[in-house]
Amino acid sequence: MLQLDNEKQLLKQYYAGQQMGSPNGGFLILLGVRHAGDGSAVGIFECSVSSLRYELVIPKATRTERKKVRDAIDDGEDPDCPRHGSGQRLVRAGKDLVCTGCGVAYAKV
Ligand SMILES: [Zn+2]
Repeated sequence: MLQLDNEKQLLKQYYAGQQMGSPNGGFLILLGVRHAGDGSAVGIFECSVSSLRYELVIPKATRTERKKVRDAIDDGEDPDCPRHGSGQRLVRAGKDLVCTGCGVAYAKV
């Protein structure tokens, strides 16, 4: 599995649902998101031209993000993913509230 060197920019595009350019030309196709034990996740992508596979580390929730989600829960709301924005609901996965889009755990339930 190959690493991508412009992760910050790619993550921004990923959260926004935009097409992500591949280092070999073409674009990156999302194959899946793997949860890491520490609350972060890894996105697995395939280049549309070369079929090379890349992984993109999706950082775990920051304190601010966790607080935002916790506040929404305390207000009796269904929290959205702080990165994907409204419409992307968090779902229960074991003891965590997780975004299915980015694979990151934002709260404990
Ligand atoms: Zn998300």
